[in-house]
Amino acid sequence: MSEEKIGVYICHCGTNIAKVVDVEDVAEWAGNQPNVEVSREYKFMCSSLGQDLIEEDIKEKGLTRIVVSSCSPHMHEKTFRTACERGGLNPFLVEMANIREHNSWTTDDKVAATQKAKALTNAAIERVVHHQPLEQLPVEINPNTLVVGGGIAGITAALELANGGRHVYLVEREPSIGGHMAQLDKTFPTLDCSACILTPKMVDVGQHPNITLLTWSEVEKVDGFIGNFTVNIRKKARYVNEEHCTGCGICIEKCPFNVVDDIFEAGMGDRKVIYRPFPQAVPKYPVIDKENCVYFQKGKCKACEKFCPTEPNSIEFDQEDEILTVDVGNIILATGFQLFDSTNIPQYGYGRLQNVFTGIEFERMVNASGPTDGKIVLRDKKTAPKSVAIIHCVGSRDENYHKYCSKICCMYSLKFAHLVHERIPDAEVYNCYIDMRTPGKGYEEFYNRLLEEGTHFIRGKVAEVTNAARKPEEEGKLIVQVEDTLIGRQRRVPVDMVILSPAMEAQPDSKGISQLFKMGCDFDGFFTERHPKLDPVATMTDGILIAGACQGPKDVPDSVAQGAAAAARVAGLINLGTVMMEPVRASIHQEECSGCRICNNMCPYNAIVFHADRKVSEVITALCQGCGTCVAACPSGIISGAHFTNDQLFSQIEGILWDVRPEKELVSA
Ligand code: SF4
Ligand code: SF4
Repeated sequence: MSEEKIGVYICHCGTNIAKVVDVEDVAEWAGNQPNVEVSREYKFMCSSLGQDLIEEDIKEKGLTRIVVSSCSPHMHEKTFRTACERGGLNPFLVEMANIREHNSWTTDDKVAATQKAKALTNAAIERVVHHQPLEQLPVEINPNTLVVGGGIAGITAALELANGGRHVYLVEREPSIGGHMAQLDKTFPTLDCSACILTPKMVDVGQHPNITLLTWSEVEKVDGFIGNFTVNIRKKARYVNEEHCTGCGICIEKCPFNVVDDIFEAGMGDRKVIYRPFPQAVPKYPVIDKENCVYFQKGKCKACEKFCPTEPNSIEFDQEDEILTVDVGNIILATGFQLFDSTNIPQYGYGRLQNVFTGIEFERMVNASGPTDGKIVLRDKKTAPKSVAIIHCVGSRDENYHKYCSKICCMYSLKFAHLVHERIPDAEVYNCYIDMRTPGKGYEEFYNRLLEEGTHFIRGKVAEVTNAARKPEEEGKLIVQVEDTLIGRQRRVPVDMVILSPAMEAQPDSKGISQLFKMGCDFDGFFTERHPKLDPVATMTDGILIAGACQGPKDVPDSVAQGAAAAARVAGLINLGTVMMEPVRASIHQEECSGCRICNNMCPYNAIVFHADRKVSEVITALCQGCGTCVAACPSGIISGAHFTNDQLFSQIEGILWDVRPEKELVSA
């Protein structure tokens, strides 16, 4: 039997664990296991009183190892490591057993849960005996930061850092920063002009000496770890030289070809083939849409080149994509969201019934610089509607599409109603909602304002939008078929225009992005935060942070708050100068290495070098992230991973099988 003295602490977690697991029984049982010096149960082990128990026992009873059976190590491993350290023990001599997420939260069966708690606790007891004291490694932090995504969250993060004197690379895949907010006319509930509050920030980004703005660019490769990332960025060819171009716009004016603008104008308007997405775009330089450029497709035209007044000419048809490499210490992802495709719900008629519009189409229509100069009109572009129905929750709170609430749709639907009243005072406006959700500063007041403005509110999920009239007054109208649950009857509401308020959803490539940056995303494709309440801007990958709607549906104030929070977190790390890295690393026993080099190419962090003179491989400790790939790959079994040695893992496995092992084995363990 080992000489170690183990302290075991079983947590009730209030009733989270104790309501299913017989905590007293587990603690009493653990006290009888080999090497266990003391075994206790306590209401909240993470509380300061709980931590004091550990600290005092280490000092008074001379404990050399600690086991805490409680919640996930993601939650409190650091807490208990720190408690050990305060008691004078190396922080890596603690092991946690997760008897909450892996046990009490998964079953109501008290007998089985208590048995499993013993198994998990025993696994930790047997494993912790083999733990070794380890030291964390200090790693210097590169003070430069990469922000990916130039919407309001990314802009905020970039400006916060840049204003604090730190250099930022801001990468945006569209030709201009601004994101969805640049498309909006007004923002709820204050009805600020969206462009008026956004464009000064965009200009600040474009002119800031601490920001390298890389629009029309995408991240292709990310290597490294917190403090030391190396990132490859593809800067796509604009076919316009940014150093020579003055942004005069003559090329746009002279380009003879128009195409439908499906991105910024949401298909409601045209743009030229050489274009700036919108007048206030940052940067101001245009970009040639190669797919639709007649010169690129047919070898003729070059009107833009002919009329460009700069010397040398700014049009460069032979420009090619560039790959830039930047070194940064931290990365903030603010890659935003997309809107649900309303054609997925055919019964609402979008794409089939011409006067059914999406929310973003309406946003462009009411925008003074939009395709109708701010006039609310039907698809014929001249008739103002006398009645409008706005349908909330299109694709949200729907078992068939997204179960979640998109959080912003009620409020932007109310904004639409207000804008219709403002522009067409005698129009009847109907808002069809499932539940009215207005949690936010001034939001409920805005709803009350809409009640006073005379909006008709119908509580019920719309079943169908149709043009099949049943009565004379329905002729030529769109009929919204809805069950009004407040009065308990079906209604048919004839209107001239229907506006759908689609769900916010994750970007279509969010899973690919999460793999590129080696972090997680949830079932809906939103990036996974380290903790949904306590750490919403960090991820499980150190040095990679998230902000804005890439983490989940969010309005402008929340996106701004997250952008600033992510920047503050990064600024704090930069100020520290170094970060302590987990000492979980691989090492190769040099004298036993056969030099087969199998491990060399398997390391995803390029952390293994081969010494040709000695014919042995070696792990560069500073680069190793402890993923364990090489440990598993080595055919000679001579690579070991600190904190995950064979002794530790096999003991843990044996420990978890305590109740199926023969009694003599258990005793001899
Ligand atoms: S005409 Fe030349 S200088 Fe003017 S915006 Fe076009 S490319 Fe730039
Ligand atoms: S454990 Fe091995 S494969 Fe993984 S990062 Fe370290 S050296 Fe590379």
